[in-house]
Amino acid sequence: MENHRLEDALLSLKSTKVRMTPQRHAILEYLLSARSHPTADDIYKALETKFPNMSVATVYNNLRVFKEVGLVRELTYGDSSSRFDSNTTDHYHVICQDCGKIVDFHYPGLDEVETLAEHVTGFKVTDHRMEIYGECPECQNHQKH
Ligand SMILES: [Zn+2]
Ligand SMILES: [Zn+2]
Repeated sequence: MENHRLEDALLSLKSTKVRMTPQRHAILEYLLSARSHPTADDIYKALETKFPNMSVATVYNNLRVFKEVGLVRELTYGDSSSRFDSNTTDHYHVICQDCGKIVDFHYPGLDEVETLAEHVTGFKVTDHRMEIYGECPECQNHQKH
């Protein structure tokens, strides 16, 4: 757990007048320590015993707040299974097609592609998304046995 990240996040929440609650704090802490790009359901299950009165909707509402202030990124997959990423620096994702694991992958930003896309299409490009798919080392091992 990188404590300075939690402190930074708490400070930026403070500056946006977002009220801190124990649940909100726990969700944030979980997100920042998780490298797994959890879903709202994953977070709910992880904190269920600590906060028996908390609902999945509460988790979602908090994630929306964190997203609005730029603390997390939402990776949408066209259904309700959005994954949340507390790593808001530029990076790409490698995704296991067997177990769904998402691993951060650093590669020099493909800014040239954005520039070229603007040139060719006349769009004002704001972002891009690239995902790499395959089979993670764990799943490859499972197959061998
Ligand atoms: Zn896998
Ligand atoms: Zn990520």
